[in-house]
Amino acid sequence: MPHRARLTVDLSAIDQNFRTIAEAAAGAEVAPVIKADAYGLGAARIAASLWKAGARTFFVARLEEGEAVRRCLGSDREARIFLLDGLIPGTEDRVRRSALIPVLADAGQVTAARVAGADLPVGLHVDTGMNRQGLSLPELAELSNSRDLRPVLLMSHLGSATRPEDPRNRLQFERFAAARRLFPALPCSLAASAGVFLGPEWCFDMVRPGVSLFGGGPFERPDPRLRAVATLYAPILYVRTVEAGEHLGYGSNLKAERVMRIAVAAVGYADGLLRRGGGRSEAWFAGARRPVCFINMDLLAIEIGNTPAAPGERVELLGPNLPLDDLAAATDTVAHECLVRLGTRASRRYVRS
Ligand SMILES: *Cc1c(COP(=O)(O)O)cnc(C)c1O
Repeated sequence: MPHRARLTVDLSAIDQNFRTIAEAAAGAEVAPVIKADAYGLGAARIAASLWKAGARTFFVARLEEGEAVRRCLGSDREARIFLLDGLIPGTEDRVRRSALIPVLADAGQVTAARVAGADLPVGLHVDTGMNRQGLSLPELAELSNSRDLRPVLLMSHLGSATRPEDPRNRLQFERFAAARRLFPALPCSLAASAGVFLGPEWCFDMVRPGVSLFGGGPFERPDPRLRAVATLYAPILYVRTVEAGEHLGYGSNLKAERVMRIAVAAVGYADGLLRRGGGRSEAWFAGARRPVCFINMDLLAIEIGNTPAAPGERVELLGPNLPLDDLAAATDTVAHECLVRLGTRASRRYVRS
């Protein structure tokens, strides 16, 4: 065990999740979303690995992310890389140089694409009710006969797919159907991770999973169909006994009501854990879940009862024994945020299980 926190990324678990999603998507192309450095897990390694697993289309958010993925896949490979940020005026040359495909998401971007020329392939993002980005249906209708654009994909994004019973899903579906009637020949995509698992009718020609490739359940709870990808371990530095009546850590709201045995591990919020997980989240040690008492910048404490423990032994903070979605629920956030924070101080290692 190294002397600091280690993040292990299991590339074969990603491959397996890719295949599981492909099966659920019933024939639709699976286009991995590897924005934000593949949710903090390392876009370069993951893009190359997913290419080997059969992925040919990728999505990123920022221009720089697209350039980095292109560098790692190489210009000879026929990978399609879509930019969810669209076409920012002034970036046309860089977009072309890296052969990126901007997904146009407002009228200004459409104008920029027309100026750039009809040889530039683009995606069209239609807003079906998320009200974050995308062309309105009337704006889209105006484009349906234009010859100065070269659309290769029509897409939209669901705002409530993690809650299958939410009527907003059906409303967005109907609006997407109307958009498709304007571009009947264009391949189209609506579903991210959650949408895939709503059922085959949501998958159309292409699906865009992110978090479920990396082990996050589509419905914000652990899903047995998906494998854990990221594991965060940290070594124990100190094992201590706290006498009854003593206070623990900063402040005075943590008081030992009885004699407590704690293990202090070399991991904290500087390694990407959320500080508010103290008192709420759990860690895995010696075959059982243990309460996390507090999380400081470099150290956290877990209560271990009578279990023997020694410096150098390892504690799991996230992984096969501590599902990502449980950590997210315990810290009041989504799996996406838990993952994306981990790419900071912890050393990263790639494995194939
Ligand atoms: C981030 C994102 C995705 C992937 O979402 P997940 O919930 O991680 O599967 C897909 N499409 C768009 C437009 C996104 O912004």
